[in-house]
Amino acid sequence: MNLRFWYLKLRPKRPFRISRETTYEKTTVLVGLEEDGLWGLGEAVPYPFYGDTLDAVVGFLKSAQNVLKNFSSFELHNVEKELHRLAGRNFSAKDGIMDAMFDILGKRIGQPVWRMLGIPRQPVPTSYTIGIGSLDEMVADLEEHPNFQVYKVKLGTDKDLEIVKELAKRTDRPLRIDANAAWTPKEALRKIQFFADLGKIELVEQPLPPDDIDGLKFLKERSSLPIFVDESVMTSKDVVRLADAVDGINIKLPKSGGLLEAFRMIHVARAHGLKIMIGCMLQSSLGIAAAAQIAPLVDYVDLDGSLLLEADPCVGLEVDENGFIHLSEKPGLGIECPSIEIKL
Ligand SMILES: [Mg+2]
Repeated sequence: MNLRFWYLKLRPKRPFRISRETTYEKTTVLVGLEEDGLWGLGEAVPYPFYGDTLDAVVGFLKSAQNVLKNFSSFELHNVEKELHRLAGRNFSAKDGIMDAMFDILGKRIGQPVWRMLGIPRQPVPTSYTIGIGSLDEMVADLEEHPNFQVYKVKLGTDKDLEIVKELAKRTDRPLRIDANAAWTPKEALRKIQFFADLGKIELVEQPLPPDDIDGLKFLKERSSLPIFVDESVMTSKDVVRLADAVDGINIKLPKSGGLLEAFRMIHVARAHGLKIMIGCMLQSSLGIAAAAQIAPLVDYVDLDGSLLLEADPCVGLEVDENGFIHLSEKPGLGIECPSIEIKL
């Protein structure tokens, strides 16, 4: 296979704010793999919080170019092993390559990836994410998107209680909370008790800093809402480490390094009795489509990253007006990126 890559410049419709940062624009990398004139596409989404920068992605893709020449698109597992040999981390670049491999393989055999994997074609409702803003801005965001089945609310402010109370009043749909590591254990417990009393909160994601496993255990024992981790868990090894400390995990392909490791995470999580969410970054619908292939296997779906963009450079992901993602019948991931001229 031949590898090429292109930059995708993305801008959210409104600055996307979470507890630790605000994103005004972002560059991801479109990874193209060519074999016998067929192209497979994937997206690498660098996220510096995990030590994964745009430069690191580009450096990794350049070193993968030579390695991939020796492999065919049927060698998913061998390629994954080779990529790990090349570098220990660089998960988002690996994800871009692995997504492109699944895409090209699906195109070779004329089947969508979900069918190739034996996954049912079942529409899944994604949550809609409300980033941090003033109370008025957050309420307006909710009211401008009234048809979603569930909302994810970003927290980590000095008005967390007020925000959730107000949003809960404005919708009859459930809310999920994501503090993006902003709280201390005692603060989290106090806030969670307040949220639980509102009766509309499904779960609380990443209340504490990623490495505070004792804090998570403290919370899990006392919290009346399920505790999920996102920043704490990258791959299946982390699932084992956290299994006693949480109720569920958020899998994201740019953290896991692609679909194969996401599968391992699902198996390990299920073996430990954990609930599973599949999530995403702020990214194009190409990377979202890769995650959507396995969404029918998990309990909670948070794949709205491309819906938050001013303009999505890719097409083919179907999200209906009620926030349900419908998997494509097209071979591979079913996505094209017409704004980029894909050629060798
Ligand atoms: Mg999260």
